[in-house]
Amino acid sequence: MTQTLLSELTTAAVGGPAGNYIEARTEAEIIDAVRSADAAGEKLLIIGGGSNLLISDEGYPGTVLKVASEGFTVNSEDSCGGVSVVVQAGHNWDALVEHSVLHAWSGLEALSGIPGATGATPVQNVGAYGADVSQTIAAVRTWDRERNAVHTFTNSELKFGYRDSILKQTTVEGSPRYVVLTVEFQLPLGRMSAPIRYAELARVLGVEAGKRAYSNDVRREVLRLRASKGMVLDAADRDTYSTGSFFTNPIVPADLASTLPEDAPKYPAGDNGLVKLSAAWLIDQAGFGKGFGLEDSSVSGGRASLSTKHTLAITNRGSASATDMVAIAREVRAGVVKRFGIELHPEPLLIGVSL
Ligand SMILES: Cc1cc2nc3c(=O)[nH]c(=O)nc-3n(C[C@H](O)[C@H](O)[C@H](O)COP(=O)(O)OP(=O)(O)OC[C@H]3O[C@@H](n4cnc5c(N)ncnc54)[C@H](O)[C@@H]3O)c2cc1C
Repeated sequence: MTQTLLSELTTAAVGGPAGNYIEARTEAEIIDAVRSADAAGEKLLIIGGGSNLLISDEGYPGTVLKVASEGFTVNSEDSCGGVSVVVQAGHNWDALVEHSVLHAWSGLEALSGIPGATGATPVQNVGAYGADVSQTIAAVRTWDRERNAVHTFTNSELKFGYRDSILKQTTVEGSPRYVVLTVEFQLPLGRMSAPIRYAELARVLGVEAGKRAYSNDVRREVLRLRASKGMVLDAADRDTYSTGSFFTNPIVPADLASTLPEDAPKYPAGDNGLVKLSAAWLIDQAGFGKGFGLEDSSVSGGRASLSTKHTLAITNRGSASATDMVAIAREVRAGVVKRFGIELHPEPLLIGVSL
């Protein structure tokens, strides 16, 4: 029997063998596979595009289920209510965004170029350039493994937060209580984008922050900005062999934020006086510049490093192991604590490894 290596199913290209590997192409196949693994008492890892997972070199000693259901259905489309579209969990996210822009469905354009499957987007409330999926998701249909039944969440029931949702809170080591089957988006019709909420994007589009632009311009500029930071998958570019941002931006009390230098980026985070900081800035200012780990190869033999385009991504330079990637993450995290007293938290799910 040939073994499936998880390094072949993840964008960081690390991870040992799967105990058992199944690909499910329809909702019925997903439910069947989950029920069988649960009935047999097997450990179960759900995987979409593998772009937010860092899996141990020992692999996963249970069933790995790849959700590969594709396609979407338009429930309704009219100028008053906009479009309601129900998307299969395995459908490629960026293909959906591209379709939305081409068909003048507004609201997803700023989320162009994010790798992975649509079913994973509500899990960590995927976001970029001032947008996130909580702004457009109407409902998520799931298989509830605890109750052995289909359960549909409305937007407010999903308890979306910054890179967070109830789906993530109830996931343990990549094994979710709720397996996403479909995601329903509600999108206004029109060629104009949602208001541009991100200063850098507004600047390159030549609009004021808070104003709209043509969605196809937004998509083009987002893809350009992302590619310049190594944040669009490109088989020829080692800077994109990563999990995207490795650390979330820390949200800290105002008195801790006030101990940082004047020029540290700080953004209000809610009404309770909390402040969101830039993890990339903290990493850079703690002495870990772009490409850290390449010239000074003492940490991971030069096999893993910070991206040469962005300090927030940990990249596999060709032959890295999960251990190498974790070594860079530990060094960076310890350095930021030492310099600023702030602890960074990983954004990807760590399976069988810890920092
Ligand atoms: C180059 C690059 C750039 C990135 N940029 C961004 C960005 O701008 N913003 C951002 O938010 N993220 C970004 N990411 C992270 C990642 O792409 C997103 O989190 C994406 O949504 C993960 O999708 P996936 O299908 O690859 O999920 P996977 O990595 O396969 O899985 C991630 C988690 O979701 C769970 N999951 C997957 N499918 C399901 C399902 N059907 N039901 C229940 N649970 C499920 C998995 O169990 C796992 O816990 C980036 C990653 C890379 C490599």
